[in-house]
Amino acid sequence: MDNLNMEALLLNETLQPLIQSLTSLEELFWVNPKKELFDSSIKKSPLGLDDVIEAEERLKRFAPYIATAFPETRPMKGIIESLLISIASMKEALEQQFNQKIHGDLLLKRDSNLPISGSIKARGGIYEVLKYAEELAIEHELLTIHKDYSIFDSQTFRDFFSQYTIAVGSTGNLGLSIGIIGTKLGFNVTVHMSSDAKQWKKDLLRKKGATVIEYESDYSKAVEEGRRQAEKDPSCHFVDDENSMDLFLGYAVAAFRLVKQLEELEVTVDEDHPLFVYLPCGVGGGPGGIAFGLKLLFQDHVHCFFAEPTHSPSMLLGLMTGLHDKISVQDIGIDNITAADGLAVGRPSGFVGKVMEPFLSGSYTVSDDQLYSLLKKLVDTEEIYLEPSALAGMIGPTMLFRDGTNYFKKNQLNKQMGSATHIVWGTGGSMVPKEVMTEYYQKGKEWI
Ligand SMILES: *Cc1c(COP(=O)(O)O)cnc(C)c1O
Repeated sequence: MDNLNMEALLLNETLQPLIQSLTSLEELFWVNPKKELFDSSIKKSPLGLDDVIEAEERLKRFAPYIATAFPETRPMKGIIESLLISIASMKEALEQQFNQKIHGDLLLKRDSNLPISGSIKARGGIYEVLKYAEELAIEHELLTIHKDYSIFDSQTFRDFFSQYTIAVGSTGNLGLSIGIIGTKLGFNVTVHMSSDAKQWKKDLLRKKGATVIEYESDYSKAVEEGRRQAEKDPSCHFVDDENSMDLFLGYAVAAFRLVKQLEELEVTVDEDHPLFVYLPCGVGGGPGGIAFGLKLLFQDHVHCFFAEPTHSPSMLLGLMTGLHDKISVQDIGIDNITAADGLAVGRPSGFVGKVMEPFLSGSYTVSDDQLYSLLKKLVDTEEIYLEPSALAGMIGPTMLFRDGTNYFKKNQLNKQMGSATHIVWGTGGSMVPKEVMTEYYQKGKEWI
């Protein structure tokens, strides 16, 4: 961002105090002033229900292949899905620690345990690779959509895909997803990794046969380099985390599945029973896609909040300034260095920010110390292990009741809050090696 624009921004009276509290690295709860009612926001959207249905149908076609290639998915018949569970003990512990009542029930969506790659990226990342594989196979007359897709698990298909490369830039988990599914199908996979990517993620990818290229700089640079190198090669598909509609739609399918899970838990979502969802946000595709899917299905009865580290509040900065990908946290002097490696993104997706602007309820930031402390608390109360990024959602309900009175007033939500449901999206963690997790837990101890 150039100096002139920066000056104009800092002179803006509404924005100035907000930017100041971001740069001071204080935790902040922000209500989105541009949120609209569903009927008007959906009119502005470039994507709709049909697009998400198409993605769900494609995942169903691939289910027989997934069940064959990844035996752990057989009990779910090749559908990659996670559980939704109640975390009442954690709720009690949060209420005690923060001396703040959380009205309604607290649930955890366990994307940390998604099969194949152990994070939310097993939704969007795998979906995009499958879509690319399907396109190639149909184009070369190896497949029609009515065939049994378990034929993807054959030497013929692997030999065919070995002529193609898939590339991606990642802080870690997206690379892991693309690498695992891509190499399984027989593709060459190149993952451009940012400096914050964890060593174990790079090691695991190399073991799977992916090429890992490491960068000294952050995520945006890794994506840019990956995109540049892929452009030169016509047999290379670049999974563009900053701009991909396929990733977004792959994530959005989660909403259909959640409707069924809520029914099974006998949770009602309607005017008298609002649903609140708290989603850790990096570049925006994962939380954006899921929130978008939920808005399509629950419309004005669902309220979605993004959560980011205080050192990487890129989506929040893009939304509050309306500049989206034209501004980075580094532009306002924030370092983008955080223990939440999955959220270490300095510049948000412009595509996601613009699509989500009228749908999103708000956004907040959380410190690394808090993430570690929540990590420990979740282990102590529920014996559930998440990676630091995945805990960003956990403080959402506390912050909402403490700092969100404006939001309740604006949306006439006071009297229904006793019958609200809160879902914290637990985005990753099951693949973290035990010794790394022990270190995280120890860090949580230091901050209590
Ligand atoms: C990638 C990731 C997110 C956020 O998804 P984005 O699409 O980058 O916004 C959240 N949590 C974890 C664990 C992740 O790996």
